[in-house]
Amino acid sequence: MDKYGLQTKLIHAGDPQPRIAGAVGVPIFQSTVFELVEGADYHDIRYPRLNNLPNHDALGKKLAAIEGGEAALVTSSGMAAISATLLALLAPGGHLLLLRGVYGGTHTFADGSFKRLGLSYDLIDGDAADSWNTKLRQETKAIYVEAMTNPLLDVPDHRAVIAFARAHGLTAIIDNTFATPVNFRPIELGYDVVLHSGTKYLNGHSDLVAGAVIASSPCIRAIKHDLDHLGGCLDPHACFLLARGLKTLALRVRAQNGSALALATALEAHRSVAKVRYPGLASHPQHARARDLFGGCGGMLSFELHGGAAAAKALIERLVLPVHGPSLGGPETLITRPARSSHAGLTAKERDELGIGDGLLRVSVGLEESADLLADFGAALDALDH
Ligand SMILES: *Cc1c(COP(=O)(O)O)cnc(C)c1O
Repeated sequence: MDKYGLQTKLIHAGDPQPRIAGAVGVPIFQSTVFELVEGADYHDIRYPRLNNLPNHDALGKKLAAIEGGEAALVTSSGMAAISATLLALLAPGGHLLLLRGVYGGTHTFADGSFKRLGLSYDLIDGDAADSWNTKLRQETKAIYVEAMTNPLLDVPDHRAVIAFARAHGLTAIIDNTFATPVNFRPIELGYDVVLHSGTKYLNGHSDLVAGAVIASSPCIRAIKHDLDHLGGCLDPHACFLLARGLKTLALRVRAQNGSALALATALEAHRSVAKVRYPGLASHPQHARARDLFGGCGGMLSFELHGGAAAAKALIERLVLPVHGPSLGGPETLITRPARSSHAGLTAKERDELGIGDGLLRVSVGLEESADLLADFGAALDALDH
């Protein structure tokens, strides 16, 4: 499979050989019991929680192939992948360097549970590699970042993360949910562990919860050991849906890259818009880094209106196509105000420090006709002036 391009791997990598009863799709193994074969050892027993049904095997191989890793594991959610990975790689007693502004669930896991588990962490600024040294401890085991942050789409200094991890013997972990392997393949750059919320772009249809970890075989074995006990397995029907969704990942993400860039450009040119954040725009603070590292800048963008929170609320009401709702990566364009959704749990001061104003709007660009989206946003923005 190695010689093929991403789109080919998405279609064919991981297919069982020979095909099961000739089936082109991997049949859903909706069984919790498998007959024992005489002479089989304990490790040959198939059981869904042990992530070893043909559905898991095929998906693991496909995910490893598309991220360029040795092995992969599907999990019951993105958070199952994240928590099992951190427990496996940090315990006992480990310390983590954690990117400031990571996904809320990841941050609250570290903030709320690490101490109780005998673990610790410090936040680092993704753009200030010079300062990371000051947070380093004897027990620091890993550095954890995201491809780009939510909702401001800041792009951390990924090359510096790899260099820092190498210099200090740390495991470099990245949540690649926002970029997807279509736009960024972190293992090729030097990351050790790639995590995903499969709920978002990998599945891409807003209809299942799943997660994934891609890493070296020994690393995946260690994470699987913990995951099997924590119970974060993906059920076989969800495996089937995820495998189906993955086949169109590249087509979807490339279309979303194009629509998001077009929308970001149009928003930036509109008189009612104060500021747009999209790594594909020259005005983005890490635009040069995004161009260096990413094949495309993804389907997520955020922006602020001159009219602040009141105008933001009015815009959401006037838009016809975007669904007012959280999450991301599906076929429907979604719009939210992070201060009232993903970041509602923070104090106003904490949001201020992160640069998330009350009027900030975040868009997950879907798969509607680009022209229809631009027209809808244009009409809703024009109407704000009246
Ligand atoms: C949604 C999300 C997660 C959590 O994934 P779940 O599938 O909801 O558990 C983790 N990281 C990022 C960047 C996300 O967007």
